[in-house]
Amino acid sequence: MTTARLHPSEIYERLSAFPKAELAQLPTPIHPLANFGRDIGASGIWIKRDDLTGLEGGGNKTRKLEYLVGDALQQGADMLVTAGAIQSNHTRQTAAAAARHGLRCGLLHLGWTEDAGPTYRTTGNILLSSLMGAELFVDNEVRPIEDQSPLITLVEQLKSRGNKPYLIPNGASLHPLGGLGYVGCAAEIVMQCRERGMRFDHVVHCTGSSSTQAGLLAGFAAMGETIEVIGIADDDETDIKTDRVYKLANGTLAAMKLDCEVSMDTVKIFAFDETRYGKSDSKTYDVIRQFARAEGLVVDPVYEGKAARGLVELVSRGRIAPNSNVLLMHLGGSPAVHAYAASFDPVDMIPLTQ
Ligand SMILES: *Cc1c(COP(=O)(O)O)cnc(C)c1O
Repeated sequence: MTTARLHPSEIYERLSAFPKAELAQLPTPIHPLANFGRDIGASGIWIKRDDLTGLEGGGNKTRKLEYLVGDALQQGADMLVTAGAIQSNHTRQTAAAAARHGLRCGLLHLGWTEDAGPTYRTTGNILLSSLMGAELFVDNEVRPIEDQSPLITLVEQLKSRGNKPYLIPNGASLHPLGGLGYVGCAAEIVMQCRERGMRFDHVVHCTGSSSTQAGLLAGFAAMGETIEVIGIADDDETDIKTDRVYKLANGTLAAMKLDCEVSMDTVKIFAFDETRYGKSDSKTYDVIRQFARAEGLVVDPVYEGKAARGLVELVSRGRIAPNSNVLLMHLGGSPAVHAYAASFDPVDMIPLTQ
């Protein structure tokens, strides 16, 4: 990997060249996960609470949206438009960002994922987006994820209606500014390590539309940090993701005019849950329950449960040494748990005996 050696404050300086809409409450905390670590046989597991980025429900899209909404405002847009699955956290965070900045919001929901139960289309993220005033659209056709044509159709319709929409791609990733938020997060992690006199050997997180992983890799490269970033896939498209992370990371470095690169061999993506997007196997549901009971924190079956499951597998297979320092990123997503209620064991209440 070619690396620069910027100080975290120089990263923030570079980022300040881009227009930014204030949305996030930063820095998000880091703290040890001593109980879960003990349960899985690893002594140095920490968590970064990017579920606490601010905006309704929190999560990783808040950091990315600061730059995209900043650009939208500068361009004079009056509406944010984006797409995602019915239980997308990204669409819900976009609805929140739009409300915060007085913009309208149009959300195109892609109805191809199998409904996880009777409340899939009425609770969780979609309910929150509706409450925050977004206009909700749905496309029930089955299409490849990269097919942006329904979103472009929607944008055209909104324009002819008189709106000035700003198009945000799925997950706020495939956009020239999509990686900036997690470059800032990389600088934040390095600062938090320096304050504590520690370093992480690995960062483990769920990877989907890929700009979280791309931004982290770009940021660490720019600071000359050799922390290994391990993405745990949310679906079965590992090869597509690897290529996307690589391109997004280097595109982000170029946008920041940083003379360094992320090499292909540092892009690491693992898939441990053999199921598809929006589906988890029983082992992942077991880890979700184990994690919740150990730490009082809930991870969802679409993204963060897979990250926690991946961490368990990496430790048990010896890919991560039991004494290494690991930062597990919590990227949000707990509102989806409600929409997936039917996938969990039924809630059992014990009748009170007098
Ligand atoms: C979007 C999302 C991810 C994946 O992040 P990408 O940047 O799209 O790879 C992971 N976890 C949660 C909760 C998300 O909402």
